Amino acid sequence: MTTLAIDLGGSRAKMAVVSGEAMGPVAILPVDHKAPLTQTLTAVAEQGRRLLREAGTSPDAIAMALPGIVHRGRAIASNGKYTEAAAFPWNDWARRVFSADIFLINDAAAALYGEMVHGVAKGTDAVALLMIGTGIGTAAAQQGRVLEGRHGTMGMLGGHIAIDMHRKRVCTCGNIGCLEAWAGTWALDELAHSDPAFPLSTLASRQRVDYRALADGVTQGDALSLRLFGTVSTALGMGAVNLIHAYDPEVLVLSGGPCHIPALCESIRRYARQYAWTPWGQVDIRIALNPEASALWGLHHYAGLRSGQ
Ligand SMILES: [Zn+2]
Repeated sequence: MTTLAIDLGGSRAKMAVVSGEAMGPVAILPVDHKAPLTQTLTAVAEQGRRLLREAGTSPDAIAMALPGIVHRGRAIASNGKYTEAAAFPWNDWARRVFSADIFLINDAAAALYGEMVHGVAKGTDAVALLMIGTGIGTAAAQQGRVLEGRHGTMGMLGGHIAIDMHRKRVCTCGNIGCLEAWAGTWALDELAHSDPAFPLSTLASRQRVDYRALADGVTQGDALSLRLFGTVSTALGMGAVNLIHAYDPEVLVLSGGPCHIPALCESIRRYARQYAWTPWGQVDIRIALNPEASALWGLHHYAGLRSGQ
C-alpha cells in the first residue's frame, strides 16, 4: 500500500510518500494555520504531486494529521487552528487532486500510532503519549488502537485536564487551570512576562520565553528560571500521572522538543515514580526519538487500518 502522508502542523506541513515499509524523502512546507485553508491546500497539493512524481507512484490513500478533534475521519473542531477544516469537503478535494480517498486523524493520535509501529513504543499495545509544544497534545491506545470515544475526544484532551484550582489561569479552550495553561509554550511566555521578577531575569533578554530559554536560565542560575522550571515540570509531572491513572498504559511516551531537556524529562519521571498509583510496577516513561518521522509512519499505518489493507 502507498500512502501520501501529510502532517499539517500550525506552521509547517511535513509530507512523505510511504510505500509498505519504506518512507521516501520528507518534505517540509511552511504553512500558516490562519491563512485560508484552500490556499494552504493548494501548496500542499503541489508538494504532494511533486513527491509522488519523484517516487514514480500514485497513492492508494491520503492520510492527514490535523491539530484538533477528529472523529472517524471527520474534522470536528479545532482550537483556533485551521478553523475552516470542519466544514471543508476533504474527500472531494483528495479525489479531485490525487484520485484517492483521504483519512484524517488528530496529530497526537498519528504520532502515537507511529511510536507503536516504528518508534519507542514498538511492540507495546497499551500506550499514552504526552506531546509538549505550543499546546499540550495527548493520545492513548489500548490493544493497539488509539482511543477515540463517542466524539473523538477520548485520550486527546489530556492537555486540558485541570491541574490547578487556585490561580484559575484561563486556557485557550475556555476551561480554567488546564495543564496546557501551565506548561504549553504559549503559557510559559505568559507566565514569565507576568512575573514581577521578569525585568531583572535573564529571560528578559529573550524575544520569546520557551523551554530552551528556560533551560538556559536554569543553567545560569537565574532565580525566575529556576522557579518557573519547578512550576512547569511539576505541572507536566501531574499531567503524566493523570494520563497514567486515566488510561492504564504500559508505556508513556514523551514527545516534542522540550522532552529532550534532560532535567525536564527526569523531573517528570521522578514525579510519576512518586505519585502514580501503579502497584503492579512503574510505567515505563520513554522519550520519542524521531517524532516527525513517527507521525508520518503513524499516518501510513492509520490509512492501512481504515482502508483494510
Ligand atoms: Zn484547556
